[in-house]
Amino acid sequence: MTNQNTFKNWLEAFNLEHPLVIAGPCSAETEDQVLKIAHQLKNTDTSVMRAGIWKPRTKPGNFEGVGKIGLDWLKKAKAETGLKIATEVANKTHVDLALEADVDVLWIGARSTVSPFIVQDIADALKGTDKIVLVKNPVNPDLSLWLGAVERLHKADIPNLGVIHRGFSTYEKTRYRNNPEWQLAVDLQNEFPDLPLIVDPSHIAGRRDIIFDICQTALDLNYDGIMVETHHLPDEAWSDLAQQITPEALDQMTKVLKIRKEHSEANEFKNKLNTLRTKIDVIDHQIINQLGKRMKIADEIGTLKKKNNVAILQTKRWNEILDKMIKEGTENGLSEDFVTKFLKAIHQESIAHQHKVLTGDKK
Ligand code: PEP
Ligand code: MN
Repeated sequence: MTNQNTFKNWLEAFNLEHPLVIAGPCSAETEDQVLKIAHQLKNTDTSVMRAGIWKPRTKPGNFEGVGKIGLDWLKKAKAETGLKIATEVANKTHVDLALEADVDVLWIGARSTVSPFIVQDIADALKGTDKIVLVKNPVNPDLSLWLGAVERLHKADIPNLGVIHRGFSTYEKTRYRNNPEWQLAVDLQNEFPDLPLIVDPSHIAGRRDIIFDICQTALDLNYDGIMVETHHLPDEAWSDLAQQITPEALDQMTKVLKIRKEHSEANEFKNKLNTLRTKIDVIDHQIINQLGKRMKIADEIGTLKKKNNVAILQTKRWNEILDKMIKEGTENGLSEDFVTKFLKAIHQESIAHQHKVLTGDKK
């Protein structure tokens, strides 16, 4: 896959002073709903209106989309407001209907990206199109699978490609509906700096109150756009109601978001510095989370030792860890001195945890 991507040019053709804003309801529900939202979005920074027509739902029996009639509503919205329109496609029939309706942006959903068979069918159906095609990350945090899907589209002579970061499923409950795993998106950016990257804070968050923060982190990491689920009556939405915001809230949000796109030498420096700092914040966050998990395991070991009457400190095991980690540290450019101090600090904290367990302060 080459680094060249004309979607980047397309982004420039928008001539936007700010990252691309795609907004609109999770699902098209009625003609009236689509048109109401479109007219409200017209007065915001939104360039493209999104709406799901065919909805992939976790369980059957939920609202599964209005189907192709929704495309007529989107076409009408486009004619009345001048907004471009976007929808999700998951098979050849969807693609044929969306192309027939002159949908400007087609996206592949997270549940489709996981399947190379589905992606290939969509790529074949889209072959040679100059429409913009955006690939959402697969539900599982697998960068190769995500890039593999982009490559299938690229091989089908689709030049205007981009990706949407919508977070990843986890079994463990977190504060997110789909864990962002920012590091994975950062790696993708490093590998393909010209591939436009759009954040979908709505599906990452699953709730309204952290959408702003997610957008800000993404913009600090130099993302090219945001895709935000927006509904005129969010609490009455037929799908994903908890995460939708009103067009008015979107407008307020984009006014407050720090979008660092103005170009000057000083700004360029500040932007770069800020991006690098955000990358460090992302990693620090991971380190602390992992350390927390490590200590929980230390607690479990403490409980086990208590039951079996075993001493906390086992020098042999500690020396083995230290040797292994010093070697791995050296391979990663870390000095022996640093790795030793760092591990000692972790080890002490572990011992303190286990001590509490053994003395009965902690179960
Ligand atoms: C959506 O955008 O409404 C959607 C279904 O998203 P995802 O594929 O990310 O779950
Ligand atoms: Mn949705």
